[in-house]
Amino acid sequence: MMRRGQSGDARQSTTGAVKAQGCQPSMPSTKRPKLGQHFLQDPRYRKRILDELRLRADDLVIEIGPGRGAMTGRLAEVVRKVVAIEIDSSLARRLQEEFAKESRVAILHADVLSVDFAELCRQQGVSQCLVFGNLPYYITSPILYHLFACRNCIRAMGLLVQHEVAERLAAEPGTRDYGYLTVCTQLHFQPRIVLTVPPGAFSPPPKVHSALVVFQVRTRFPNWAREEYEEFLEFVKRCFAQKRKTLVNNLAGSFSRDRVARVLAEAGKPTNLRAEQLSVEELAAVFERLSPSSMLNDPLGL
Ligand code: SAM
Repeated sequence: MMRRGQSGDARQSTTGAVKAQGCQPSMPSTKRPKLGQHFLQDPRYRKRILDELRLRADDLVIEIGPGRGAMTGRLAEVVRKVVAIEIDSSLARRLQEEFAKESRVAILHADVLSVDFAELCRQQGVSQCLVFGNLPYYITSPILYHLFACRNCIRAMGLLVQHEVAERLAAEPGTRDYGYLTVCTQLHFQPRIVLTVPPGAFSPPPKVHSALVVFQVRTRFPNWAREEYEEFLEFVKRCFAQKRKTLVNNLAGSFSRDRVARVLAEAGKPTNLRAEQLSVEELAAVFERLSPSSMLNDPLGL
């Protein structure tokens, strides 16, 4: 018998995708002030966001933090199914009641960080999903890294984040915003800021502007194995360890200064270069040169 608050088989069919203890937050609740709850009130922005997502009728949309359902029902009107993951028990219960009769919506009461997106896709009979979320800002980076780790089952994403974070995600090399988060993002996705949303569109209004970033999948190094991506990201972390230091200095703990300087010189780059001056491909080429065990092709012929 269906209990009140359950939407069809939604809960049984999705809970298996929650790792660890279903709804146990991975951070103590004291460190989750208000759970980043700024609800999107303005219907004009709801519509504009929907337009920018370029949804397909057969999409499975995984929504992060549906809150009071500002977007959930609208998404369900255009796609095959929406699975919405909400950590707040009273909001999740409210949504489960609201969508109890709607077979195209399943509400999963869980911490998004404990959800295995690939398993969720499998349970819904698809290999890939589109991820949408007006992200809780206090936990934006952990969610992004979780999504990057789940990238194989994601066909595209549309995420509303703080404008300042959006600029870091989409930054060009040589700019102030370009850093480790940019490289992690642009290694797998092509992010584009498509819409700026003012604080007044939310209730309560946040202190800063937000932006919708649309991410298309981009595979830069198709021959890389998972370990090579991981090694590369470790390398990039070291390259950006202290942004104002040169690459040679940041890598001094791992490689001899002479070796790094030689690799840069061979590439026609100045030896006092900083990591932020190198594109993702250029960083990868330096990585390859310094890590002879890597199977990576030499994309720049360094
Ligand atoms: N989507 C709604 C909207 O646009 O009005 C709410 C967005 S609000 C910025 C963020 C939502 O994420 C809140 O509903 C909050 O409870 C939920 N949330 C916060 N941390 C979460 C987590 N770790 N896992 C899942 N949901 C979370």
